[in-house]
Amino acid sequence: MKRALVLGGGVAGIAAAFGLRDRGYAVRLLEAHSWLGGRAFSPPAKGDGARPDNGPHVMLGCYEHMRALLRRLGTEAEFGAGEGLCLEYQSVGGPRLRLELAAMSPNLALPLALLKFPAFSLWEKLKICLGLPATYLAGKNRSLERWLQRYRQGTQIRAYLWDPLCRAIMNAEASQVDAGVFFKTLRRAFGGSAADAAIWLPRKPWSELIGEPAFDVLSAAGVEVSLGRRVAALQFEDGQLSGIDLAGGDSLRLESGEIVFSALPWHVLARLIPGGLPAAAIASSAILSVYCQTAERQGIPASPLLVLVDGEPFHFFCRRVAAPLGEFALLAAGAESLRGKSVDAICAIARDQLQRYFPDLPADADIKMQVLREDRATMIVAPGDERHRPPPGLLEGFTNFYLCGDWTATGLPSTLESAAESATRAIADLR
Ligand SMILES: Cc1cc2nc3c(=O)[nH]c(=O)nc-3n(C[C@H](O)[C@H](O)[C@H](O)COP(=O)(O)OP(=O)(O)OC[C@H]3O[C@@H](n4cnc5c(N)ncnc54)[C@H](O)[C@@H]3O)c2cc1C
Repeated sequence: MKRALVLGGGVAGIAAAFGLRDRGYAVRLLEAHSWLGGRAFSPPAKGDGARPDNGPHVMLGCYEHMRALLRRLGTEAEFGAGEGLCLEYQSVGGPRLRLELAAMSPNLALPLALLKFPAFSLWEKLKICLGLPATYLAGKNRSLERWLQRYRQGTQIRAYLWDPLCRAIMNAEASQVDAGVFFKTLRRAFGGSAADAAIWLPRKPWSELIGEPAFDVLSAAGVEVSLGRRVAALQFEDGQLSGIDLAGGDSLRLESGEIVFSALPWHVLARLIPGGLPAAAIASSAILSVYCQTAERQGIPASPLLVLVDGEPFHFFCRRVAAPLGEFALLAAGAESLRGKSVDAICAIARDQLQRYFPDLPADADIKMQVLREDRATMIVAPGDERHRPPPGLLEGFTNFYLCGDWTATGLPSTLESAAESATRAIADLR
């Protein structure tokens, strides 16, 4: 039987292991942690609290590769999705606003919804309508900030439209990201049907949707899943990966014809490849989440997902589908201003922001908070960074070493869909 090793058991590694098994390979998957799922995992609950996630993850209806993986894991039905895109906004002291797209192609529905949206003046609506066609002109290698300035998308338009979308999609600020990749991703979300643009929120912790079922389904399919096996070094000879050293002293010698799929993150792989990868130049962006649990009901919004307009440091309020009212999370994309702060300081900042956005919440409400920070939550797709992303598939110059992972050149930012799609594309590149 042909043999394949998969390094890393996140979304990309799980999808690659299925793909290789389907192609008749005997597959062994090596994962450093004692769980599968990578960045989309859920640490254990503290005490009798609800199990949090490594940070809230949201999908869109257009995540076709990710949805195919969830179907394989039997968990696609564990999500709640609307008929189309619906966003809710809360500003300090302002009313709660809804931007709801009619059930028609978002290409049409989005401009119509923006024209009706009460946060924008007539002048701002005009600027948005003039700006939308110009999103096609945004070249690669320019920052989104430059585009926003060029098309005079002022403070209010940014606060309700571009900044929340940029943080949600790119996990960074407009000054940091490539405008071309941002708009291409938007077109993928809004260029199809209404259902493609709908937000998908989970009912359960992410580990129960990906990592835990993946262990069972992969094992049942005959994949050998080895947890707690950290790759410490890769040995290359004559354009081939010839051996893998594992932390703890073991090493694996590759058999003739054996292939290896790396589904490791950019920052790990850049260290393991002699001479590095261009990906070593890729910067990372953090996500910090504060999971809150309270018996208090007063002042807490029932919305599953709220944009906190001009929110600093927390940009989004979210909860799982059908979660109790008092279970929600605040999320800071990038989270630069929280760097180096203690857990107590972060909790105090979170409480203060909750109070400002939801003033009916009693000041002395008993709220249990759990802070989760992922320093390398996503890569930053900075202007010009596309050239640092190798395509998913056989790494140039090698005969048995394939790459996949959310950071490879899928054309998408670092997302679940990019990870799942990269695996499909790497499998399609099998020689
Ligand atoms: C808090 C947070 C919120 C996010 N929100 C969203 C969202 O809303 N929507 C969205 O689409 N995406 C979101 N993302 C991004 C998404 O989680 C990632 O893009 C995706 O999970 C990446 O999958 P991957 O398989 O490419 O990489 P990873 O998930 O990083 O998988 C790599 C695997 O390799 C393992 N590994 C690392 N080093 C070694 C080693 N030396 N040896 C062996 N194994 C190793 C890791 O343990 C891991 O399991 C979010 C990420 C975070 C952290």
